[in-house]
Amino acid sequence: MSKSKPRRIVRKSKPQRPTWPTWPTLTPAQREELLCVTDGGHVHTSGGKDSLALLSAVQRLAGQQFEKFSTAVHAILPDVEWPGVTELARRQAEYLGYTFETVQRSQGSLLEHFEQRGKFSDAQNRFCTSDHKTAQCLKVITARDRVLGPATAGSSSSANIDLPAVLGPWADQIGPDTRVYLNILGMRADESPARAKLPELAIDEKWSTALRAIDRGGAQIGTRRRLVLRWLPIHAWTEAEVQKHCDEIGDGDLTHFAYHLNVKAMEEVMAAEGRKAVLQKPQDELRAILRSPGGVRWGGMPRLSCAFCIFAPKPALALAMLYNRDMWGTYRDLEARIDFSWHNRQKWRIGALERDLGSGLIQLGGLTTAGQWNM
Ligand code: SF4
Repeated sequence: MSKSKPRRIVRKSKPQRPTWPTWPTLTPAQREELLCVTDGGHVHTSGGKDSLALLSAVQRLAGQQFEKFSTAVHAILPDVEWPGVTELARRQAEYLGYTFETVQRSQGSLLEHFEQRGKFSDAQNRFCTSDHKTAQCLKVITARDRVLGPATAGSSSSANIDLPAVLGPWADQIGPDTRVYLNILGMRADESPARAKLPELAIDEKWSTALRAIDRGGAQIGTRRRLVLRWLPIHAWTEAEVQKHCDEIGDGDLTHFAYHLNVKAMEEVMAAEGRKAVLQKPQDELRAILRSPGGVRWGGMPRLSCAFCIFAPKPALALAMLYNRDMWGTYRDLEARIDFSWHNRQKWRIGALERDLGSGLIQLGGLTTAGQWNM
């Protein structure tokens, strides 16, 4: 019997994944060009101070082009955000001339999502942001893209204006029918080491159908090609610059009260009555102390969005708990039900907040500096 020849396994080489360029910072001229050549975009807003500064910055930078970027999109996280956040986000956007749109995950809230998955999100598995914010907000771009259709000569800014000034040699990859959108966010370098590494402008590969076509050998898929660029116009702004800028918009009354909670008053009541006794007070009484006049401006929560953010330092979680006792109780009960630690690596539970604050292991002070959120 003749031996059969061993079969040669021919492995198809995968198409090389291109490395897309990034732009660490843009010059004022490049920013102007970017706003001019792109087909439009939307500004993400959480209702927080960075969002307010961002909305204002984009409005100013866009100038004549503002209409293309005048949609502010807010992802509602109904059972986890600070009270009044969505209403404030609307007020901020409309004050600055934006059209305000809200989006929300239809498959359930974030707390329901935690429960379904049997765990909280974390840095490696950040479904709170990806599923409840990013994916929802980018639906707005998809919808706009559907309305505009593919670019044709004369219909698109990007088809008519020279992109190389912004995109360099890579601009050759963009076909004449490609629409270019800006996904505009308020992330800043001084928020965390990870955010410091982000470039001001980058290609949002996941949402760029134009790039997916290039990935597979250059063949065009479908009739629409879309390039989405993620732009962080206030990336270089410091915390102090953001606060100052926010104080100058609308007489300074367009920032959330959580930033200005009276921590000093709470510390004084704790010193006088005992920490554990204060924790027995009803939610309304705790709120009244924290909203009492005489606090330090910007002396409360350094960040807004979810009251109990997975990246928040313990003092911020404790302050959020004092104001949002009922919401914290929901988290504590959920944590007990799914038997999963809030800070999984540290094996620290959000249910321990009350105990650790009551025993003095967590202090409320020192919340105003940037960089405490490890996001
Ligand atoms: S604020 Fe924190 S918990 Fe909420 S979505 Fe963002 S990263 Fe997740």
